Amino acid sequence: MKAENFPKEIQPFLIPEAKGKLIYRCLGCESEHGIEKLLYTCPDCGQVLLLYDENFERLKEIPGKTWHRIFDYRKMLTLPALKGIYLYHEFIGPVIPTDAVVYLGEGHTPIVEANGLMQEKADVKFWFKNDGQNPSASFKDRGMASALSYIHYLLKVGLVSDVLAICASTGDTSAAAALYASYLNPRIKSAVLLPHKKVTPQQLSQPLGSGASVFEIPGVFDDCMKVVEHLADHYNVALLNSKNAWRILGQESYSYEIAQDFEFEMEKKVVVVPIGNAGNITAVMSGFLKFYECGIISSLPKIIGVQSEHANPVYRYYREPEAEKRRFVPVTVRASVAQAAMIGNPVSMPRVIRLTDQYNRLAGEQRVFFAEVTEQEIMDWELTANHNGHIACTHGGESLAGLVKARKQGIVDKDEEAIVDSTAHALKFAGFQEMYFDNAFPPEFAVTPDTALINRPVLMRPADLEKVPEPGRPIGGKDFEHFVRRVSEEIASALQLRSL
Ligand SMILES: *Cc1c(COP(=O)(O)O)cnc(C)c1O
Ligand SMILES: [Zn+2]
Repeated sequence: MKAENFPKEIQPFLIPEAKGKLIYRCLGCESEHGIEKLLYTCPDCGQVLLLYDENFERLKEIPGKTWHRIFDYRKMLTLPALKGIYLYHEFIGPVIPTDAVVYLGEGHTPIVEANGLMQEKADVKFWFKNDGQNPSASFKDRGMASALSYIHYLLKVGLVSDVLAICASTGDTSAAAALYASYLNPRIKSAVLLPHKKVTPQQLSQPLGSGASVFEIPGVFDDCMKVVEHLADHYNVALLNSKNAWRILGQESYSYEIAQDFEFEMEKKVVVVPIGNAGNITAVMSGFLKFYECGIISSLPKIIGVQSEHANPVYRYYREPEAEKRRFVPVTVRASVAQAAMIGNPVSMPRVIRLTDQYNRLAGEQRVFFAEVTEQEIMDWELTANHNGHIACTHGGESLAGLVKARKQGIVDKDEEAIVDSTAHALKFAGFQEMYFDNAFPPEFAVTPDTALINRPVLMRPADLEKVPEPGRPIGGKDFEHFVRRVSEEIASALQLRSL
């Protein structure tokens, strides 16, 4: 719709201008730093940073109800810069001019209600939010759209040139980084570091296809992360891991979309997300907090962070009920089907601690919870969901398994409704489904297939047929008619079809 056709009172708000004053703030020493330079950690004490808008108060002057209308009307604009995460420009990156926004189709992913059977099984009403329907098939595109729009802005104003973007990854970060960097080719080149044999073939194909330099490193993600941190400390590179606070800003769009999808009613809502490096749960909390502070939502939804028992440092930290006694201890990860979350020493742990505390304090009660699930539960729930119309990845299975556990433990009530994050597309992790169907999981996963969920192709090649078609060698006449009839009979018998 054309801007002049919107209601008069909304028109001044429709197309945002670059405003606000973003600064990095250190979570350790609280020092503040300007955004002219790309910082990943505090130059004073080395802790992680978050971005804050020093002029955030101005957003509170606009009534919550007006914000609802601004966001709802903005959806009808055809301006590409506002079609993705920057629909929430004032909250995502107020300093970024719209002509610097990199939009590749990310965000506004579908919310799909679970069918009756699934809701019965889970004993609670829930939706999947399909973040696998982002351009590189995971939620990581949200953060990359933000980080690369910011770098694009720095390029445009001449604060940087010839950027080499680099990241360590469990697979999806590198796919997203390589994709977004390639859009700004040749001004940005990208390099990704992956743990050797610890990403799926689909994930490996993505940065290769985008033309990034791909390096495979022995060990697990935590080892790659150390190398990439060393590179960022000693060489002229732009780090794209979620240590980069711009990633967190972009991922807040996930919360804003959920709020808008439910007409800004967050009462009795539960948001379930898997945790790996803990950037996503940080962003989800931060996003809801900002909307709450501006009166855009009037209650904070419950949040449940889920981890596999094979990579559970955050869950372990919060298992201690007394805050003063909690101590963070990194864990040595074991094999996990939630491979993109197989992280023993999450970079965003200080952010999680800070925001969880703030979230619970503002809500006036505990609203952030953590759940732990087994590898078996992850696979069983993923496959069950996908038997019922979903396209959940293993991490989506992990989220759902976490919801079910939280429901059983009474953390989630019967009258609450959950939004479950399927962080990537099922196809990225199809290899784990194959292992399940072939009962071929190496013992360290501790997954035994439930025969009711196993599904395998059946080769129909009736033994009595002498001639069958082959690629490039068709058969004709009576032979072909015989082939079609016999194969049909076999299929009809396998499916127990009645004849007409
Ligand atoms: C990165 C990733 C996660 C974990 O997110 P964090 O922000 O690292 O906690 C979960 N699922 C998928 C599919 C991912 O790619
Ligand atoms: Zn500091």
